[in-house]
Amino acid sequence: MFGVVPKPLWERRMAPDERNRIVLALRCLLIEHDVGPVLVDTGVGNKESSKFVDIYGVENAGSRGPTQLDDALAEAGYTAADIRYVINTHLHFDHCGGNTLVEMEWGEQGEKGQGRRGVISYPSFPLSPTKLAFPNATYVVQRGELEFASNTNERTAASYLAPNFVPVSEANRWQLVSGEVEVLPGIHVLPTPGHVPYHQSVLVTSGGEAACFLADLVPTAAHLPLPWIMGYDLEPLVTLESKRELLARAEGEGWVLVFEHDPDRGLGRAVRAGKSYAFAPLDTP
Ligand SMILES: [Zn+2]
Repeated sequence: MFGVVPKPLWERRMAPDERNRIVLALRCLLIEHDVGPVLVDTGVGNKESSKFVDIYGVENAGSRGPTQLDDALAEAGYTAADIRYVINTHLHFDHCGGNTLVEMEWGEQGEKGQGRRGVISYPSFPLSPTKLAFPNATYVVQRGELEFASNTNERTAASYLAPNFVPVSEANRWQLVSGEVEVLPGIHVLPTPGHVPYHQSVLVTSGGEAACFLADLVPTAAHLPLPWIMGYDLEPLVTLESKRELLARAEGEGWVLVFEHDPDRGLGRAVRAGKSYAFAPLDTP
C-alpha cells in the first residue's frame, strides 16, 4: 500500500499484522441528490471465494443483506433498489465488487459474519450467475476504464474481475463518460490517472461547499504526502502529478476529502506541510 516508502516509516502510521497486512476500509459514499440516492463505489461484494476472503481478511458480511453496504444503506433509510446512480471510480474488485451479487440463501444464517453460505468455490468464480446489485441504477464509469478492464495483461488481470462489470455491460446499464463530466447537477467526475490510466475521483458541490471522494488517488489520510504512492499504481509518476494538481485545488478551496480505504479517518482536509500535504480533521478552524 505504500510503494517505495520504507516500512519503518509507514508501519508507524499503520501497524501490520503477522501476515504483513494492514487494516483498510471499503468506504462508499452515498449522495442524497434531487434525482435520488447516488452511490460512489460499491465495495468488494459477496462473490469472493473463501480463499480470497482469507487472503484479504475480508470482513464485510451484512446483517440485513449480503454485505455491510446493505446495512449502511438501511441505516440511511434506503434499499439497493432505491439507488438511481452508481459511480465507479475504477473497476478494481475492491471498488466495484458490489456492483453485482451472487444469489445467497439469505435468512436463517443472516447474522453478521455468518452469512457466507452462498460463498462459491474459486474455480467457478468467473462463471457464477450474478445479478445487478442495484437493479434500478445507471452505472457510470470512464469509457477508457471499461476498455482497459476488458483487455488485461499479466500485470493488471488480478484486479479486474469480469463478474464485477461484464453483467453491467450485458444489461446495457453503463453510462460511459470521457474526461471531466458533470454527471448530475453538482456531481463532477474528475480524471485522476496514475493508479490506473482512467481512474476518476468524484467532486460533490452543494450550498457553497465541496467534498471530494478521492478513491485510490489518496486511499488513506496517510497517503496525503505527495510521494506516498501505492505499489499497486501502474503509473506512479502520473499519480504524483494527479495528486499535485488535485490537492492544490483541495487545499486552496477547502474541500472536504473522503478517504475510501482509511480505517479511522474517513473525512478530513488537506493542509500544507512544507512542499507537501498533511491531514487535518474537519473541525480544524
Ligand atoms: Zn484500485
